Amino acid sequence: PEKTSCSLHQVIDESINLISQQPIAQNVDFVRNYHPELPALPLDRGQIRQVFMNLVMNACQAMPSGGTLTIQSVLEEHDVLVEVGDTGFGIEEEQLKQIFDPFFTTKERDGTGLGLSISYGIIENHGGSIKVRSVLGEGTTFSIRLPLKSQLD
Ligand code: ADP
Ligand code: MG
Repeated sequence: PEKTSCSLHQVIDESINLISQQPIAQNVDFVRNYHPELPALPLDRGQIRQVFMNLVMNACQAMPSGGTLTIQSVLEEHDVLVEVGDTGFGIEEEQLKQIFDPFFTTKERDGTGLGLSISYGIIENHGGSIKVRSVLGEGTTFSIRLPLKSQLD
């Protein structure tokens, strides 16, 4: 997979635009809180788009009667931190340990359980990390760190 110098915000925006047109996103408010001067990053654009499409889709599916999806980027010393937070139904502690496992899904239809495991691999392949925290009944936040400079190639 080829990494080229990209605007991460542009790639995230493409993901949001694709998902926000779906019926599941109808009552979701999208809030973007982007760092104003984020430098370009070495990214496999298609793969990173896939990661954020899945995170945004999962978040919308966790807010069936609507809510707020907040995407924030923070410039750290060596990384960009992106937080994707929803106000959805949250994840039980027992399930939190398994959500990055291939084929783990709680969805009765249309769930493959592959989105997060594939996302985990993609972020790892960029030298980054992905973590999750959740409070039942309050919401879930995914934290993605991507290095400013590629260390893998
Ligand atoms: P799928 O979406 O096909 O179920 P994923 O790998 O994308 O597979 O997600 C795995 C599981 O993690 C989901 O079935 C769901 O139980 C849980 N999950 C992921 N994101 C969220 C979220 N934002 N809120 C609540 N649960 C979530
Ligand atoms: Mg998914």
